[in-house]
Amino acid sequence: MTNLVIGAGLVGITSAYELLKRGQSVTLLEQQEGPALGASFANAGMLTPSMSDPWNSPGVYKYLAKSLFNPSSFMCLRLNAIPSLMGWGVKFLRYSSEPYFNAALKDNFNLTTYSLRKTQEIADKYDLQYCRKSKGTLSIFNTPEDFAVKEDLYKKLSKLGLKCSILNPDEIISLVPSLASIRSQLHKGIHYYQDESGDAHLFCKALLAKYLEAGGQIQYGVSVKSLAISNNKITGVNTESEFIPAKRVVVASGANSPSILKSVNINLDVKPAKGYSLTINVDGVSGLPSLPVLNDAMNVVVTPLGNRLRLVGTAEFSGFDLSIDKKRMAALFEMFEYMYPEIASQVDQNSATPWAGLRPMSCDGKPFIGASKIKGLYINSGQGPLGWTLAMGSANLIADIMLGAPTEIDAKPFSMIRADRNISV
Ligand SMILES: Cc1cc2nc3c(=O)[nH]c(=O)nc-3n(C[C@H](O)[C@H](O)[C@H](O)COP(=O)(O)OP(=O)(O)OC[C@H]3O[C@@H](n4cnc5c(N)ncnc54)[C@H](O)[C@@H]3O)c2cc1C
Repeated sequence: MTNLVIGAGLVGITSAYELLKRGQSVTLLEQQEGPALGASFANAGMLTPSMSDPWNSPGVYKYLAKSLFNPSSFMCLRLNAIPSLMGWGVKFLRYSSEPYFNAALKDNFNLTTYSLRKTQEIADKYDLQYCRKSKGTLSIFNTPEDFAVKEDLYKKLSKLGLKCSILNPDEIISLVPSLASIRSQLHKGIHYYQDESGDAHLFCKALLAKYLEAGGQIQYGVSVKSLAISNNKITGVNTESEFIPAKRVVVASGANSPSILKSVNINLDVKPAKGYSLTINVDGVSGLPSLPVLNDAMNVVVTPLGNRLRLVGTAEFSGFDLSIDKKRMAALFEMFEYMYPEIASQVDQNSATPWAGLRPMSCDGKPFIGASKIKGLYINSGQGPLGWTLAMGSANLIADIMLGAPTEIDAKPFSMIRADRNISV
């Protein structure tokens, strides 16, 4: 009997690959007609140990409360989503206290650095083509106040082992010459030179090809409706039309994981946070940046991906709604025009491709990776805003856990039962 992995996004494909590599028979089940068409399709493309901080940081509640009255703020809570967020939301706020935040930062940093190493290893091994860049990421700050907000975090991360350089405006311009037009508005930058970037969708397709070549199976157009158990042991999954038997099952279905787990009375504290991107073809455009640049106060990032630039910003708690708010897309393009006026003048805004995806956000800012209370049922979900960064590390952990092998880093902080937080799945 095979191992089933539900969901062919970043987390499912990498998990399936790692299980197969450990000698297991594996079948991926995906409801869509192709790989990585959910949150993994058009994200910001950054692999960033430098962003290991959970979004529920101290003070987040003030920010979210204000966002109710300012729909253009980066992280925005929609009034009509509040009822669906109740239990999760209370935990999200509770775990934003300084001690929880610091503990989660440390746990996430261990996993992001491990995961980046695993991504690099596999990319090198197969020479995977996904517009990979190893030049780091750059955060820019317009004022001393903006920089001060990040200074505390960067010091904490540096203590944990993150390497970065603080840049003055001249150094910023020598790293990214096309920022020269806003030189007078630059205060400082932080170059996280160990970060990487690349197109997550292309990575998924390239790794999936290796998985299939090695004998892995995938079925598209298969939507899992419920999990089947007997005597507290997984027996398989039910789709609309059939029962598929399984030895073990991994739920790696992104923001949809809780609805699948509900069928066996497991309450997974994961909710969707919508984000937007705008992808622009920049064939023939001059002065392109060579690494992702994040305007920290504006929360907008511009990432080069081969002959495309991807602009990303915003997080909305608005349930599973995937509609695209034109005002938000226009605001995204305006920020791009502000950062790179000369590049923006060479591209046609109307040719940009808008996209929205749902980040699977856990209540405490850390993913859920491990065994559930049902024998043979495993969960790998809730990677939130860091799923591209965390995918390979999470996949290695889940595969080792499933096969009873020692994990390379401590997996306990991501287990279903978080001893320090009173979370139990
Ligand atoms: C705007 C935006 C920018 C981002 N930028 C970054 C970034 O720069 N760096 C970073 O590290 N992360 C980033 N992320 C986060 C990252 O993209 C996500 O964490 C990651 O894609 C989640 O992967 P996943 O495999 O868990 O979910 P998904 O990619 O959503 O995959 C889940 C899959 O499960 C399938 N599925 C669901 N239900 C079922 C079912 N019942 N039966 C069968 N199949 C099912 C879905 O169709 C889907 O294909 C960003 C996200 C967004 C939205």
